[in-house]
Parts: sequence; structure tokens; C-alpha cells
Amino acid sequence: MADSPAPGRIFPRLLSSYGGDSAGPLVIGIGGMHGNEPAGAVALQRALEILRTHEVPFRGRFVGFAGNRAALARGCRYVDEDFNRAWSQERVCRVRAGVPSTDTTTEQREQRELLAYLDDQLAQRRGPVVCLDLHTTSAAGTPFVVIGDTLLNRRFGFRLGAPVVLGLEERLESTILNYLGEEGHVAVGFEGGQHESPSAVAIHLAAIRTVLVTAGCIRAEDFPLPADGLDTYDEETDGLPPVVEVRYHHVIRDGDEFVMEPGFANFQPVERGQLLACDRRGPIRASESGQILMPLYQGQGTDGFFLVRRVRPFWLRVAKWLRRLRIERLLPALPGVRRYQDTPGTLVVDPRVARWFVVELFHLLGFRKRQSREGKLIVSRRWHESHAFDELPGP
Ligand SMILES: [Zn+2]
Repeated sequence: MADSPAPGRIFPRLLSSYGGDSAGPLVIGIGGMHGNEPAGAVALQRALEILRTHEVPFRGRFVGFAGNRAALARGCRYVDEDFNRAWSQERVCRVRAGVPSTDTTTEQREQRELLAYLDDQLAQRRGPVVCLDLHTTSAAGTPFVVIGDTLLNRRFGFRLGAPVVLGLEERLESTILNYLGEEGHVAVGFEGGQHESPSAVAIHLAAIRTVLVTAGCIRAEDFPLPADGLDTYDEETDGLPPVVEVRYHHVIRDGDEFVMEPGFANFQPVERGQLLACDRRGPIRASESGQILMPLYQGQGTDGFFLVRRVRPFWLRVAKWLRRLRIERLLPALPGVRRYQDTPGTLVVDPRVARWFVVELFHLLGFRKRQSREGKLIVSRRWHESHAFDELPGP
């Protein structure tokens, strides 16, 4: 389907709404959190057309929202500030309360409106909630999935058939996915290829269908996809590592004059010491061997690139067993580990005492690093392990 979405389009806030007659999951799709990434928003509209045209039987409800409408209209990533870095709990509370200082930037106004729609849908829900945030990248390369590493997110992420990236949410603060995940919902991010790729809409559409099927809203055979969309999807994800973790994040600061070396694509292997980019301090080389992810080839954005490394399936299985056994209850008994104040699911770790197991063990058990304070690490559970979809077979 040669449907390259032209930049600079007016989208309604509510892109799609279907079902709702029966109790069941609420699936929320969001497209265009970045205004130069309209493919997800177009796909959400297209999904609604297919559901309506084929009168697809539906359990629960499906809604699709446009993210940053002002930036979508201009075809730029954002107008005043990155809309996908604006979703800290604290800021959401202030916006929801209508604090006057949260009405000064374009993105604050976008946030107030989108939040009202989200709150309204969540208040009416009649089942568990699945959130799907659709993006595209400035670099070429295969689609991939971004999740906070909970067992339920994995179940949805793995079904999408594209490489799954773990640990990105730890590096990117205040994304809408983190916000919705911390609210206890299934939260899956999907990067559907390059911004201008003609196949991006078709790939997003396939992802939307997979999520609706996995949530138990529809049967796959009731939702026909354009045939070339599925082919593209299979082809572009073929032969890639199924799960990778983020090892390095290059953050761009004001005045860095960051320039990526040309020609890198998502998941391209790189060697330790290889020249990746330059800024005003000089060349930037790979700190370790691995694969590159999201090399920045656009003007706006503060993430230069990421380096990722494959996670062996053995460790994924170990993590699953440990979490099922709820081993984390025993952690405060370890040397150098204690509870943090009275905050449930949050621990203080002294790396000088706890040594080798700090990062690896806590990741395995589903914790993420929150902050370092006076030489100690504060870690907390990555979102709640929800049992909302326990009736579904595992991946
Ligand atoms: Zn994006």
C-alpha cells in the first residue's frame, strides 16, 4: 500500500472509536505524539474504516487519539517542547488541576485536551486497558517494539513479531508510555519504520490488529489487512534478534552541534571504537560493540543514538520464573539493600555492599533505576504486574 503520509495534516483529536456495546478490554491507540510521525495517526483512522466497513464483531472498546495535533499540522516533531517527555506524574497532576502556569506552551494545551479525553475513556472502561503508542524513526530500518519489562507487556510486545527493546523507558523520562504503564495499564510502544516510508501506515495497521487480537477484542480473520502490508512487515523483521536491551544512550545537550555519521539504520551492527557521530567536542565513537538504534537524522530531538545488545532467551526465562515466584519479597534481606521509606516496591541499594548483582538482578526482577543519591541507588518496580489478561495463553 503506497500510502506515504504527507507531513502537515490536520487530524481530529479522536481518530477512531469502535465497539463499547459489550464489557471487555479498552484498547487506546495514540498516533503522532511527535508531529513529524503521522503514519500512526493515519493507521488508527484506517483501522476504524476497516472495523466499520466489515462490521467486525468486537468485545470491549477501541479508541484512537492524535497526539500532538499542533505539531502534526506543521509537520514538525514539536512546537515548544517534546510532547513525549511531558508526562511525569507531577506535571500530569498540575495540568489536570488546571494550574495556570501549565497553560503557557503549545504542548501544555495539547496535554490538557488529550488528558481530558484519556481520563474520560478510562473512567468509562469496562475491562482491562491496553495502550499502544505509535511512532516512526528518522533513520531507516526495521520496525521494533518498546516496552517496560513486565510479563504482561512482554506478552503483547512479543506477539507483534518485531524485535522488542527493553530498558528504553529507563532512559527516557516522562513519556506517555511510562505514564500509562505506571497507572497499571498494559503499555506498548511501536516504531513502524522510517517517517517517510511508504509502508509505515500498513505496518502500523498490522500492529493495531495484532494488539486487538491479543487483547481478545477481535478475531484476526474478521479484520482483513491490505496484503502488501503484512508482507512488508514479515520481510522487514526477518532474521533480527527478538529481544535487545539498551546499553548506552547518547544525550544531546544545547549547543552540542551533534551530527550523526550518514548511513546508519536501526539494528545495524557496530564495533567498539567505531565512529558514529561528531559534536563540538570531537568524534563520538561506540563505547562497546552491539547494534545501533534510533540514530538521529533530524533537526529536533535530544537523543543522538542508542546502543543495544541482544538478551539471550535463557535470561528472559529466568526472569519470568523469578517474578512468578515473587523473589523480590526477599530482596530487603540482602546485604546493602533496604526498603525506601514507606514507599511500596521501592528499595535503596548501596552498590559498594551489594556489588555485582545490582543492575542485573534488579532488572531481572523487573526493577528500574530511579535515581542515585549520595552514592546509593534508588530502584523501584517497573510498573505493576497486572493480572488483567491472565486468561490469555503466554507467548
Ligand atoms: Zn516519536
